[in-house]
Amino acid sequence: MESNILIEEVAHRLDALLPAEIQFLEQRDPFRFLISVILSAQTTDRIVNAVVRDLFAVFPTKQSLADATTAQVEQIIFPTGYYRNKAKHIIACAQALLDQDLPDTMEELVKLPGVGRKTASCVLGDIYGKPAIIVDTHFSRVVNRLGLVSSNDPVIVERQIRTMLAAQMQYRFSMTVNLFGRTTCHAKKPECEHCPLGDLCPSRDGFLKKSST
Ligand code: SF4
Repeated sequence: MESNILIEEVAHRLDALLPAEIQFLEQRDPFRFLISVILSAQTTDRIVNAVVRDLFAVFPTKQSLADATTAQVEQIIFPTGYYRNKAKHIIACAQALLDQDLPDTMEELVKLPGVGRKTASCVLGDIYGKPAIIVDTHFSRVVNRLGLVSSNDPVIVERQIRTMLAAQMQYRFSMTVNLFGRTTCHAKKPECEHCPLGDLCPSRDGFLKKSST
């Protein structure tokens, strides 16, 4: 099957199977959402959602967060890990955005402290409803196993997927693939036996053989 036909079939099946709304982070205000995504590196969404609630209870405005000391912020965000860098970045973002709304382009977003393409894509897709492909570990694993790409470089994965899929399908595709990776196509033991994409997946037989030995 050609790659663009395969990816559309995967997109349609996951779209039909998975919830219409997929949101891992609960904050909806653009600035608070950005801070949540920055805090989400290397931790779980459950921890981020709880920590962000605590953070904005103490620092409810951009101004108050911009004026906070790193030690004050570190103390609150400690459970998310990498708290020293994260504290610096979120205070610097608050300072950078004091007099402006959160930008809505990739070019402007990646200029903010601690904001890379993945974080920017989350903002573009989730907050602004723009085409975006969020390449995280789950997404990358699934699209590689399905043979849609053969690279672990997030920039290459994003670029290749973008060429295969219509812009309006990209964000929904990245969210459904992400959720599918978390719930079915696990890193260690993918559930290949009952996988709804099994007939499309070139990795399935290898995993089934491995699990039967
Ligand atoms: S068949 Fe297995 S490896 Fe392929 S997508 Fe499904 S769960 Fe993942």
